[in-house]
Amino acid sequence: MHTPGTATPERFPARDHFADGAQYIAGRLAHGTSGHAHTVVDPATGAEVLTYGLAGADDVDAAVAAARAAFPGWAGATPGERSDALHRFAGVLAERAEEFARAESLQCGKPLKLSREFDVPGTVDNTAFFAGAARHLQGQSAGEYTGDHTSYVRREPIGVVGSIAPWNYPLQMAAWKILPAIAAGNTIVLKPSELTPLTSLMFARAATDAGIPDGVVNIVTGTGREAGERLVGHPDVAMTSFTGSTAVGRRVAALATATVKRLHLELGGKAPFVVFDDADLDAAVQGAVAASLINTGQDCTAATRAYVQRPLYDAFVARTAALMETVRLGDPFAPGTDLGPLVSHAHRDRVAAFVDRARAHARVVTGGEAPGGELEDGAYYRPTLIVDAAQDSETVQTEIFGPVLVVLPFDGDDEGIALANDTPYGLAASAWTGGVYRANRATRELRAGCVWINDHIPILSEMPHGGHRNSGFGKDMSVYSFEEYTQVKHVMFDNTAVAAKDWHRTVFGDR
Ligand code: NAD
Repeated sequence: MHTPGTATPERFPARDHFADGAQYIAGRLAHGTSGHAHTVVDPATGAEVLTYGLAGADDVDAAVAAARAAFPGWAGATPGERSDALHRFAGVLAERAEEFARAESLQCGKPLKLSREFDVPGTVDNTAFFAGAARHLQGQSAGEYTGDHTSYVRREPIGVVGSIAPWNYPLQMAAWKILPAIAAGNTIVLKPSELTPLTSLMFARAATDAGIPDGVVNIVTGTGREAGERLVGHPDVAMTSFTGSTAVGRRVAALATATVKRLHLELGGKAPFVVFDDADLDAAVQGAVAASLINTGQDCTAATRAYVQRPLYDAFVARTAALMETVRLGDPFAPGTDLGPLVSHAHRDRVAAFVDRARAHARVVTGGEAPGGELEDGAYYRPTLIVDAAQDSETVQTEIFGPVLVVLPFDGDDEGIALANDTPYGLAASAWTGGVYRANRATRELRAGCVWINDHIPILSEMPHGGHRNSGFGKDMSVYSFEEYTQVKHVMFDNTAVAAKDWHRTVFGDR
Protein backbone atom coordinates (compact mmCIF):
# COMPACT_ATOMS: atom_id res chain seq x y z
CA MET A 1 0.00 0.00 0.00
CA HIS A 2 1.48 3.37 -0.97
CA THR A 3 0.93 6.63 0.92
CA PRO A 4 -2.04 8.51 -0.55
CA GLY A 5 -1.46 12.20 -1.28
CA THR A 6 -3.84 15.05 -1.98
CA ALA A 7 -6.72 14.84 -4.46
CA THR A 8 -5.56 16.22 -7.80
CA PRO A 9 -7.13 19.36 -9.36
CA GLU A 10 -8.72 17.17 -12.06
CA ARG A 11 -10.44 15.16 -9.37
CA PHE A 12 -11.38 18.16 -7.24
CA PRO A 13 -11.79 21.26 -9.44
CA ALA A 14 -14.04 22.90 -6.81
CA ARG A 15 -11.30 23.13 -4.13
CA ASP A 16 -11.04 26.95 -4.40
CA HIS A 17 -14.68 27.29 -3.36
CA PHE A 18 -13.75 26.26 0.15
CA ALA A 19 -10.74 28.54 0.65
CA ASP A 20 -12.71 30.66 3.13
CA GLY A 21 -13.83 27.77 5.31
CA ALA A 22 -16.54 25.16 5.61
CA GLN A 23 -19.17 27.08 7.59
CA TYR A 24 -21.84 28.99 5.68
CA ILE A 25 -23.38 31.67 7.86
CA ALA A 26 -25.44 34.69 6.75
CA GLY A 27 -24.54 34.24 3.09
CA ARG A 28 -20.79 33.74 3.36
CA LEU A 29 -18.20 31.11 4.11
CA ALA A 30 -16.36 31.23 7.43
CA HIS A 31 -13.78 29.16 9.25
CA GLY A 32 -14.97 26.98 12.12
CA THR A 33 -13.78 28.08 15.55
CA SER A 34 -13.87 24.82 17.56
CA GLY A 35 -10.07 24.60 17.48
CA HIS A 36 -10.31 21.17 15.83
CA ALA A 37 -9.82 20.32 12.18
CA HIS A 38 -11.26 17.54 10.03
CA THR A 39 -9.98 16.12 6.77
CA VAL A 40 -12.38 15.03 4.04
CA VAL A 41 -10.88 11.93 2.41
CA ASP A 42 -11.52 10.48 -1.06
CA PRO A 43 -12.63 6.95 -0.09
CA ALA A 44 -11.61 5.61 -3.50
CA THR A 45 -7.92 6.47 -3.02
CA GLY A 46 -7.39 7.57 0.57
CA ALA A 47 -6.19 10.96 -0.74
CA GLU A 48 -6.82 14.13 1.25
CA VAL A 49 -9.57 16.28 -0.29
CA LEU A 50 -9.95 19.18 2.14
CA THR A 51 -8.89 19.98 5.68
CA TYR A 52 -11.19 22.45 7.41
CA GLY A 53 -11.92 23.88 10.87
CA LEU A 54 -14.88 22.20 12.54
CA ALA A 55 -17.76 24.26 13.90
CA GLY A 56 -17.84 24.95 17.61
CA ALA A 57 -20.63 26.27 19.80
CA ASP A 58 -19.94 29.88 18.76
CA ASP A 59 -20.39 29.02 15.09
CA VAL A 60 -23.69 27.28 15.79
CA ASP A 61 -24.85 30.28 17.83
CA ALA A 62 -23.86 32.65 14.98
CA ALA A 63 -25.71 30.54 12.42
CA VAL A 64 -28.84 30.37 14.57
CA ALA A 65 -28.67 34.15 15.12
CA ALA A 66 -28.41 34.68 11.35
CA ALA A 67 -31.39 32.39 10.75
CA ARG A 68 -33.37 34.14 13.46
CA ALA A 69 -32.62 37.57 11.99
CA ALA A 70 -33.66 36.41 8.51
CA PHE A 71 -36.90 34.80 9.68
CA PRO A 72 -39.32 37.79 9.80
CA GLY A 73 -38.43 38.93 6.27
CA TRP A 74 -38.55 35.44 4.74
CA ALA A 75 -41.71 34.40 6.59
CA GLY A 76 -43.28 37.69 5.53
CA ALA A 77 -42.48 37.22 1.83
CA THR A 78 -45.45 36.17 -0.26
CA PRO A 79 -45.69 32.55 -1.38
CA GLY A 80 -45.16 33.83 -4.91
CA GLU A 81 -41.91 35.57 -3.94
CA ARG A 82 -40.59 32.44 -2.23
CA SER A 83 -41.65 30.38 -5.21
CA ASP A 84 -39.81 32.69 -7.63
CA ALA A 85 -36.63 32.41 -5.58
CA LEU A 86 -36.88 28.61 -5.53
CA HIS A 87 -37.41 28.51 -9.30
CA ARG A 88 -34.22 30.57 -9.75
CA PHE A 89 -32.48 28.23 -7.27
CA ALA A 90 -33.45 25.19 -9.38
CA GLY A 91 -31.98 26.98 -12.42
CA VAL A 92 -28.64 27.68 -10.71
CA LEU A 93 -28.41 24.05 -9.55
CA ALA A 94 -29.12 22.76 -13.06
CA GLU A 95 -26.35 25.00 -14.51
CA ARG A 96 -23.88 23.61 -11.94
CA ALA A 97 -25.01 19.98 -12.27
CA GLU A 98 -21.66 18.57 -13.34
CA GLU A 99 -19.75 20.40 -10.60
CA PHE A 100 -22.17 19.00 -8.00
CA ALA A 101 -21.96 15.48 -9.44
CA ARG A 102 -18.16 15.44 -9.31
CA ALA A 103 -17.97 16.79 -5.76
CA GLU A 104 -20.60 14.30 -4.57
CA SER A 105 -18.76 11.37 -6.15
CA LEU A 106 -15.44 12.54 -4.74
CA GLN A 107 -16.54 12.84 -1.10
CA CYS A 108 -18.82 9.76 -1.04
CA GLY A 109 -17.12 7.43 -3.53
CA LYS A 110 -20.31 6.96 -5.55
CA PRO A 111 -19.97 6.22 -9.25
CA LEU A 112 -20.26 9.36 -11.34
CA LYS A 113 -23.18 7.80 -13.25
CA LEU A 114 -25.13 7.58 -9.98
CA SER A 115 -24.40 11.18 -8.99
CA ARG A 116 -25.17 12.42 -12.50
CA GLU A 117 -28.35 10.42 -13.04
CA PHE A 118 -29.84 10.22 -9.55
CA ASP A 119 -28.46 12.53 -6.85
CA VAL A 120 -28.14 15.74 -8.85
CA PRO A 121 -31.21 15.58 -11.14
CA GLY A 122 -33.26 14.40 -8.15
CA THR A 123 -32.16 17.49 -6.25
CA VAL A 124 -32.93 19.85 -9.14
CA ASP A 125 -36.37 18.25 -9.50
CA ASN A 126 -37.01 18.51 -5.76
CA THR A 127 -36.14 22.21 -5.86
CA ALA A 128 -38.50 22.79 -8.80
CA PHE A 129 -41.21 20.79 -7.01
CA PHE A 130 -40.98 22.94 -3.86
CA ALA A 131 -40.95 26.10 -5.98
CA GLY A 132 -44.44 25.06 -7.11
CA ALA A 133 -45.57 23.66 -3.77
CA ALA A 134 -44.66 26.92 -1.99
CA ARG A 135 -47.81 28.43 -3.54
CA HIS A 136 -50.07 25.58 -2.42
CA LEU A 137 -49.84 25.59 1.36
CA GLN A 138 -53.33 24.72 2.44
CA GLY A 139 -55.37 25.36 5.59
CA GLN A 140 -58.74 23.99 6.62
CA SER A 141 -61.83 25.75 5.29
CA ALA A 142 -63.24 28.69 7.24
CA GLY A 143 -66.73 28.64 8.71
CA GLU A 144 -69.23 29.67 11.39
CA TYR A 145 -68.94 26.58 13.59
CA THR A 146 -70.60 28.10 16.70
CA GLY A 147 -73.02 30.25 14.78
CA ASP A 148 -71.73 33.32 16.64
CA HIS A 149 -68.14 33.23 15.40
CA THR A 150 -66.15 32.83 12.24
CA SER A 151 -63.18 30.45 12.55
CA TYR A 152 -60.36 29.79 10.17
CA VAL A 153 -57.00 28.14 10.21
CA ARG A 154 -53.72 29.81 9.34
CA ARG A 155 -50.80 27.60 8.36
CA GLU A 156 -47.62 29.28 9.57
CA PRO A 157 -43.89 28.59 9.49
CA ILE A 158 -42.37 27.43 12.75
CA GLY A 159 -39.26 29.61 12.95
CA VAL A 160 -35.63 28.52 12.86
CA VAL A 161 -35.29 24.84 11.91
CA GLY A 162 -32.17 22.94 13.05
CA SER A 163 -31.47 19.99 10.75
CA ILE A 164 -28.91 17.21 10.94
CA ALA A 165 -28.04 15.01 7.96
CA PRO A 166 -26.04 11.82 7.28
CA TRP A 167 -23.24 11.15 4.77
CA ASN A 168 -24.85 8.66 2.38
CA TYR A 169 -26.67 11.14 0.10
CA PRO A 170 -25.30 14.48 1.34
CA LEU A 171 -26.73 16.64 -1.46
CA GLN A 172 -30.16 15.01 -1.49
CA MET A 173 -30.37 15.01 2.30
CA ALA A 174 -29.52 18.74 2.37
CA ALA A 175 -32.21 19.33 -0.25
CA TRP A 176 -34.82 17.22 1.53
CA LYS A 177 -34.23 19.16 4.74
CA ILE A 178 -33.80 22.67 3.38
CA LEU A 179 -36.41 22.86 0.62
CA PRO A 180 -39.70 22.14 2.43
CA ALA A 181 -38.50 24.20 5.41
CA ILE A 182 -37.79 27.35 3.38
CA ALA A 183 -40.69 26.85 0.94
CA ALA A 184 -42.96 27.10 3.99
CA GLY A 185 -41.26 30.31 5.19
CA ASN A 186 -38.89 28.95 7.83
CA THR A 187 -35.18 29.66 7.98
CA ILE A 188 -32.70 26.87 8.61
CA VAL A 189 -29.36 25.80 10.03
CA LEU A 190 -28.23 22.45 8.61
CA LYS A 191 -25.44 20.34 10.00
CA PRO A 192 -24.23 17.90 7.35
CA SER A 193 -22.03 14.97 8.29
CA GLU A 194 -18.51 16.18 8.94
CA LEU A 195 -17.31 13.47 6.51
CA THR A 196 -19.16 14.94 3.51
CA PRO A 197 -19.74 18.70 3.75
CA LEU A 198 -18.84 19.77 0.19
CA THR A 199 -22.16 19.65 -1.67
CA SER A 200 -24.21 21.01 1.26
CA LEU A 201 -21.97 24.10 1.24
CA MET A 202 -22.25 24.36 -2.55
CA PHE A 203 -26.05 24.03 -2.23
CA ALA A 204 -26.20 26.91 0.27
CA ARG A 205 -24.03 29.09 -1.94
CA ALA A 206 -26.27 28.33 -4.93
CA ALA A 207 -29.25 29.48 -2.84
CA THR A 208 -27.51 32.81 -2.22
CA ASP A 209 -26.58 33.14 -5.89
CA ALA A 210 -30.24 32.56 -6.78
CA GLY A 211 -31.22 35.55 -4.61
CA ILE A 212 -32.44 33.75 -1.48
CA PRO A 213 -31.69 36.26 1.30
CA ASP A 214 -28.65 35.87 3.55
CA GLY A 215 -29.40 33.92 6.71
CA VAL A 216 -32.29 31.88 5.25
CA VAL A 217 -29.96 28.90 4.61
CA ASN A 218 -26.97 28.33 6.91
CA ILE A 219 -24.61 25.38 7.18
CA VAL A 220 -22.54 24.44 10.23
CA THR A 221 -20.02 21.67 9.66
CA GLY A 222 -18.99 20.02 12.87
CA THR A 223 -19.21 16.85 14.87
CA GLY A 224 -22.45 15.46 16.21
CA ARG A 225 -21.34 15.73 19.81
CA GLU A 226 -20.26 19.36 19.58
CA ALA A 227 -22.13 21.16 16.78
CA GLY A 228 -25.05 18.71 16.52
CA GLU A 229 -25.97 18.72 20.19
CA ARG A 230 -25.59 22.49 20.42
CA LEU A 231 -28.00 22.87 17.50
CA VAL A 232 -30.57 20.43 18.89
CA GLY A 233 -30.47 22.00 22.35
CA HIS A 234 -30.43 25.62 21.15
CA PRO A 235 -33.24 27.67 22.73
CA ASP A 236 -33.80 29.73 19.56
CA VAL A 237 -34.29 26.66 17.37
CA ALA A 238 -37.99 25.75 17.12
CA MET A 239 -37.74 22.41 15.35
CA THR A 240 -35.25 19.57 14.97
CA SER A 241 -35.28 17.55 11.77
CA PHE A 242 -32.85 14.63 11.92
CA THR A 243 -31.86 11.97 9.39
CA GLY A 244 -29.41 9.33 10.52
CA SER A 245 -29.14 6.16 12.54
CA THR A 246 -31.76 5.04 15.02
CA ALA A 247 -29.18 5.07 17.85
CA VAL A 248 -28.25 8.73 17.32
CA GLY A 249 -31.92 9.55 16.64
CA ARG A 250 -32.78 8.41 20.17
CA ARG A 251 -30.18 10.77 21.65
CA VAL A 252 -31.37 13.65 19.44
CA ALA A 253 -34.99 12.98 20.42
CA ALA A 254 -34.12 13.14 24.12
CA LEU A 255 -32.29 16.47 23.69
CA ALA A 256 -35.04 17.97 21.53
CA THR A 257 -37.73 16.88 23.95
CA ALA A 258 -35.93 18.56 26.85
CA THR A 259 -36.30 21.89 25.05
CA VAL A 260 -39.85 21.13 23.76
CA LYS A 261 -39.10 21.22 20.04
CA ARG A 262 -41.07 20.00 17.07
CA LEU A 263 -39.34 16.79 16.00
CA HIS A 264 -38.99 14.93 12.72
CA LEU A 265 -36.89 11.74 12.65
CA GLU A 266 -35.81 9.81 9.55
CA LEU A 267 -33.89 6.84 10.92
CA GLY A 268 -32.38 3.55 9.87
CA GLY A 269 -33.92 0.74 7.86
CA LYS A 270 -33.57 -2.96 7.12
CA ALA A 271 -35.88 -3.26 4.15
CA PRO A 272 -37.37 -6.67 3.29
CA PHE A 273 -37.72 -7.87 -0.31
CA VAL A 274 -40.40 -10.56 -0.47
CA VAL A 275 -40.44 -12.86 -3.51
CA PHE A 276 -43.59 -14.99 -3.90
CA ASP A 277 -43.53 -18.18 -5.98
CA ASP A 278 -45.48 -16.56 -8.85
CA ALA A 279 -42.92 -13.76 -9.25
CA ASP A 280 -41.00 -13.08 -12.47
CA LEU A 281 -37.66 -14.54 -11.36
CA ASP A 282 -35.59 -12.50 -13.84
CA ALA A 283 -37.14 -9.29 -12.55
CA ALA A 284 -36.68 -10.30 -8.91
CA VAL A 285 -33.00 -11.22 -9.38
CA GLN A 286 -32.23 -8.01 -11.29
CA GLY A 287 -34.18 -6.00 -8.73
CA ALA A 288 -32.42 -7.60 -5.76
CA VAL A 289 -28.95 -6.88 -7.10
CA ALA A 290 -29.75 -3.27 -8.02
CA ALA A 291 -31.67 -2.54 -4.82
CA SER A 292 -29.10 -4.08 -2.48
CA LEU A 293 -26.05 -2.50 -4.13
CA ILE A 294 -27.29 1.00 -4.94
CA ASN A 295 -24.93 3.55 -3.39
CA THR A 296 -22.77 0.56 -2.30
CA GLY A 297 -25.66 -0.52 -0.08
CA GLN A 298 -25.47 2.71 1.92
CA ASP A 299 -29.12 3.51 1.36
CA CYS A 300 -31.65 3.52 4.17
CA THR A 301 -34.25 1.86 1.89
CA ALA A 302 -31.84 -0.64 0.25
CA ALA A 303 -33.03 -4.23 -0.04
CA THR A 304 -31.22 -6.00 2.78
CA ARG A 305 -33.30 -9.12 3.55
CA ALA A 306 -34.71 -11.14 0.65
CA TYR A 307 -37.39 -13.67 1.67
CA VAL A 308 -37.97 -16.09 -1.19
CA GLN A 309 -40.77 -18.65 -1.34
CA ARG A 310 -39.33 -22.16 -1.27
CA PRO A 311 -39.93 -23.19 -4.95
CA LEU A 312 -37.84 -20.22 -6.21
CA TYR A 313 -35.28 -20.13 -3.41
CA ASP A 314 -32.36 -22.14 -4.85
CA ALA A 315 -32.58 -20.52 -8.29
CA PHE A 316 -32.86 -17.06 -6.75
CA VAL A 317 -29.74 -17.55 -4.61
CA ALA A 318 -27.66 -18.98 -7.47
CA ARG A 319 -28.68 -16.34 -10.01
CA THR A 320 -28.42 -13.39 -7.62
CA ALA A 321 -24.90 -14.44 -6.56
CA ALA A 322 -23.88 -14.90 -10.21
CA LEU A 323 -25.21 -11.46 -11.17
CA MET A 324 -23.48 -9.83 -8.17
CA GLU A 325 -20.19 -11.27 -9.40
CA THR A 326 -20.55 -9.35 -12.70
CA VAL A 327 -20.79 -5.96 -10.96
CA ARG A 328 -17.66 -3.94 -11.76
CA LEU A 329 -15.93 -2.41 -8.73
CA GLY A 330 -13.71 0.52 -9.48
CA ASP A 331 -12.85 4.20 -9.38
CA PRO A 332 -16.08 6.25 -9.17
CA PHE A 333 -14.74 8.51 -11.94
CA ALA A 334 -13.95 5.68 -14.39
CA PRO A 335 -16.63 5.18 -17.08
CA GLY A 336 -16.99 1.40 -16.60
CA THR A 337 -17.54 1.47 -12.84
CA ASP A 338 -20.76 0.11 -11.34
CA LEU A 339 -19.83 0.06 -7.67
CA GLY A 340 -17.58 2.48 -5.79
CA PRO A 341 -16.04 2.18 -2.33
CA LEU A 342 -17.87 2.64 0.94
CA VAL A 343 -17.79 6.15 2.40
CA SER A 344 -14.71 5.59 4.57
CA HIS A 345 -12.18 2.97 5.52
CA ALA A 346 -13.63 2.87 9.04
CA HIS A 347 -17.10 2.14 7.68
CA ARG A 348 -15.71 -0.52 5.33
CA ASP A 349 -14.10 -2.22 8.33
CA ARG A 350 -17.41 -2.05 10.20
CA VAL A 351 -19.22 -3.76 7.30
CA ALA A 352 -16.47 -6.38 7.04
CA ALA A 353 -16.78 -7.10 10.76
CA PHE A 354 -20.55 -7.73 10.37
CA VAL A 355 -19.84 -10.26 7.61
CA ASP A 356 -17.04 -11.91 9.59
CA ARG A 357 -19.33 -12.35 12.59
CA ALA A 358 -22.03 -13.81 10.28
CA ARG A 359 -19.66 -16.61 9.20
CA ALA A 360 -20.06 -18.17 12.65
CA HIS A 361 -23.71 -19.03 12.02
CA ALA A 362 -24.35 -18.50 8.28
CA ARG A 363 -22.76 -19.06 4.86
CA VAL A 364 -21.24 -16.40 2.63
CA VAL A 365 -22.12 -17.43 -0.94
CA THR A 366 -20.19 -14.67 -2.70
CA GLY A 367 -18.15 -11.62 -1.69
CA GLY A 368 -17.24 -11.20 1.96
CA GLU A 369 -13.89 -9.55 1.29
CA ALA A 370 -12.13 -6.38 0.16
CA PRO A 371 -10.88 -6.67 -3.43
CA GLY A 372 -7.19 -5.75 -2.98
CA GLY A 373 -4.97 -5.27 -6.05
CA GLU A 374 -5.18 -1.82 -7.58
CA LEU A 375 -8.21 -1.05 -5.38
CA GLU A 376 -6.27 -1.75 -2.19
CA ASP A 377 -6.00 1.90 -1.10
CA GLY A 378 -9.75 2.49 -1.36
CA ALA A 379 -12.54 1.54 1.05
CA TYR A 380 -13.88 -1.14 -1.30
CA TYR A 381 -15.85 -4.25 -0.38
CA ARG A 382 -17.18 -6.91 -2.72
CA PRO A 383 -20.93 -7.42 -3.19
CA THR A 384 -21.86 -10.04 -0.62
CA LEU A 385 -24.66 -12.58 -0.44
CA ILE A 386 -25.32 -14.51 2.79
CA VAL A 387 -27.63 -17.51 3.33
CA ASP A 388 -28.57 -19.79 6.23
CA ALA A 389 -28.71 -16.92 8.73
CA ALA A 390 -31.21 -17.23 11.57
CA GLN A 391 -34.08 -14.73 11.57
CA ASP A 392 -33.12 -13.53 15.04
CA SER A 393 -29.41 -13.11 14.20
CA GLU A 394 -27.60 -9.79 13.99
CA THR A 395 -27.18 -10.33 10.22
CA VAL A 396 -30.95 -10.26 9.73
CA GLN A 397 -31.97 -7.83 12.46
CA THR A 398 -29.36 -5.03 12.35
CA GLU A 399 -28.67 -2.40 9.70
CA ILE A 400 -25.27 -3.20 8.12
CA PHE A 401 -25.32 -0.30 5.59
CA GLY A 402 -23.06 -1.93 3.01
CA PRO A 403 -23.28 -4.09 -0.14
CA VAL A 404 -24.63 -7.09 1.76
CA LEU A 405 -27.83 -9.05 1.02
CA VAL A 406 -29.07 -11.89 3.20
CA VAL A 407 -31.50 -14.37 1.61
CA LEU A 408 -33.92 -16.56 3.59
CA PRO A 409 -36.60 -19.05 2.43
CA PHE A 410 -40.28 -19.11 3.46
CA ASP A 411 -43.19 -21.48 2.84
CA GLY A 412 -46.69 -19.99 3.18
CA ASP A 413 -47.63 -16.36 2.38
CA ASP A 414 -48.42 -15.68 6.05
CA GLU A 415 -44.90 -16.69 7.01
CA GLY A 416 -43.30 -14.51 4.34
CA ILE A 417 -45.13 -11.40 5.49
CA ALA A 418 -44.55 -12.15 9.17
CA LEU A 419 -40.79 -12.59 8.65
CA ALA A 420 -40.64 -9.39 6.60
CA ASN A 421 -42.26 -7.47 9.47
CA ASP A 422 -40.04 -9.06 12.11
CA THR A 423 -37.44 -6.33 12.77
CA PRO A 424 -37.81 -3.09 14.73
CA TYR A 425 -37.51 -1.03 11.53
CA GLY A 426 -40.25 0.07 9.12
CA LEU A 427 -38.86 2.33 6.42
CA ALA A 428 -39.42 0.49 3.13
CA ALA A 429 -40.36 -2.94 1.75
CA SER A 430 -41.13 -4.59 -1.56
CA ALA A 431 -43.15 -7.58 -2.74
CA TRP A 432 -42.60 -9.46 -6.00
CA THR A 433 -45.58 -11.32 -7.44
CA GLY A 434 -47.73 -11.67 -10.57
CA GLY A 435 -50.87 -11.97 -8.45
CA VAL A 436 -53.05 -8.98 -7.76
CA TYR A 437 -54.45 -10.40 -4.50
CA ARG A 438 -51.00 -11.18 -3.12
CA ALA A 439 -49.76 -7.74 -4.16
CA ASN A 440 -52.70 -5.99 -2.58
CA ARG A 441 -52.28 -7.96 0.63
CA ALA A 442 -48.59 -7.08 0.78
CA THR A 443 -49.34 -3.36 0.45
CA ARG A 444 -51.76 -3.62 3.38
CA GLU A 445 -49.74 -5.83 5.69
CA LEU A 446 -46.08 -4.88 5.18
CA ARG A 447 -45.35 -2.42 7.98
CA ALA A 448 -43.26 0.26 6.32
CA GLY A 449 -43.49 3.86 5.15
CA CYS A 450 -43.17 2.79 1.50
CA VAL A 451 -44.14 -0.49 -0.21
CA TRP A 452 -43.15 -1.19 -3.80
CA ILE A 453 -44.68 -3.92 -5.96
CA ASN A 454 -42.27 -5.51 -8.48
CA ASP A 455 -39.67 -2.79 -7.95
CA HIS A 456 -37.58 -1.49 -5.06
CA ILE A 457 -35.84 1.92 -4.66
CA PRO A 458 -37.50 4.57 -6.90
CA ILE A 459 -38.48 7.77 -5.09
CA LEU A 460 -40.05 10.92 -6.45
CA SER A 461 -40.60 14.50 -5.40
CA GLU A 462 -44.41 14.26 -5.37
CA MET A 463 -44.59 11.30 -2.94
CA PRO A 464 -43.72 11.21 0.78
CA HIS A 465 -40.65 9.43 2.16
CA GLY A 466 -40.45 8.46 5.80
CA GLY A 467 -40.57 5.59 8.23
CA HIS A 468 -42.82 3.78 10.64
CA ARG A 469 -41.77 2.22 13.96
CA ASN A 470 -38.01 2.52 14.77
CA SER A 471 -37.38 4.08 11.36
CA GLY A 472 -38.83 7.31 12.74
CA PHE A 473 -41.77 9.56 12.01
CA GLY A 474 -42.62 12.47 9.76
CA LYS A 475 -42.18 12.83 6.01
CA ASP A 476 -39.58 14.22 3.64
CA MET A 477 -40.50 15.37 0.12
CA SER A 478 -44.05 15.92 -1.25
CA VAL A 479 -46.67 18.24 0.23
CA TYR A 480 -46.84 15.91 3.27
CA SER A 481 -43.53 17.41 4.43
CA PHE A 482 -45.37 20.68 5.07
CA GLU A 483 -47.08 18.93 7.97
CA GLU A 484 -43.66 18.84 9.64
CA TYR A 485 -42.47 22.32 8.70
CA THR A 486 -45.63 24.32 9.44
CA GLN A 487 -47.91 24.76 12.41
CA VAL A 488 -51.59 25.57 12.30
CA LYS A 489 -53.25 28.39 14.18
CA HIS A 490 -56.96 28.64 14.90
CA VAL A 491 -58.26 32.21 14.45
CA MET A 492 -61.71 33.04 15.84
CA PHE A 493 -63.77 36.21 15.29
CA ASP A 494 -66.81 37.13 17.35
CA ASN A 495 -69.70 37.97 15.02
CA THR A 496 -72.25 39.27 17.60
CA ALA A 497 -70.69 42.54 18.82
CA VAL A 498 -72.50 41.81 22.12
CA ALA A 499 -70.73 42.60 25.43
CA ALA A 500 -72.57 39.98 27.54
CA LYS A 501 -71.96 36.87 25.54
CA ASP A 502 -74.09 33.81 26.17
CA TRP A 503 -71.28 31.68 27.55
CA HIS A 504 -70.31 34.29 30.21
CA ARG A 505 -73.11 33.03 32.49
CA THR A 506 -71.05 29.91 33.14
CA VAL A 507 -68.67 32.25 35.00
CA PHE A 508 -71.02 34.88 36.50
CA GLY A 509 -74.77 35.64 36.60
CA ASP A 510 -77.79 33.75 35.16
CA ARG A 511 -79.46 33.68 31.76
P1 NAD B 1 -25.37 8.92 12.19
O1 NAD B 1 -26.62 8.73 12.98
O2 NAD B 1 -24.10 8.39 12.72
O3 NAD B 1 -25.12 10.47 11.93
C1 NAD B 1 -26.10 11.29 11.32
C2 NAD B 1 -25.81 12.74 11.67
O4 NAD B 1 -25.97 12.92 13.08
C3 NAD B 1 -24.39 13.20 11.34
O5 NAD B 1 -24.44 14.53 10.84
C4 NAD B 1 -23.71 13.17 12.69
O6 NAD B 1 -22.61 14.07 12.80
C5 NAD B 1 -24.85 13.58 13.60
N1 NAD B 1 -24.70 13.19 15.01
C6 NAD B 1 -23.98 12.16 15.53
N2 NAD B 1 -24.08 12.16 16.87
C7 NAD B 1 -24.89 13.20 17.21
C8 NAD B 1 -25.37 13.71 18.45
N3 NAD B 1 -25.04 13.16 19.62
N4 NAD B 1 -26.17 14.80 18.43
C9 NAD B 1 -26.53 15.38 17.27
N5 NAD B 1 -26.09 14.94 16.05
C10 NAD B 1 -25.29 13.86 16.03
O7 NAD B 1 -25.70 8.34 10.73
P2 NAD B 1 -24.72 8.21 9.49
O8 NAD B 1 -23.78 7.09 9.79
O9 NAD B 1 -24.20 9.55 9.12
O10 NAD B 1 -25.76 7.78 8.34
C11 NAD B 1 -26.24 6.50 8.18
C12 NAD B 1 -27.58 6.32 8.86
O11 NAD B 1 -28.54 7.24 8.35
C13 NAD B 1 -28.18 4.96 8.60
O12 NAD B 1 -28.72 4.46 9.79
C14 NAD B 1 -29.28 5.24 7.59
O13 NAD B 1 -30.33 4.30 7.56
C15 NAD B 1 -29.74 6.57 8.03
N6 NAD B 1 -30.48 7.25 6.96
C16 NAD B 1 -31.85 7.33 7.04
C17 NAD B 1 -32.57 7.95 6.02
C18 NAD B 1 -34.08 8.06 6.07
O14 NAD B 1 -34.63 8.75 5.24
N7 NAD B 1 -34.75 7.41 7.01
C19 NAD B 1 -31.90 8.51 4.93
C20 NAD B 1 -30.51 8.40 4.88
C21 NAD B 1 -29.81 7.77 5.92
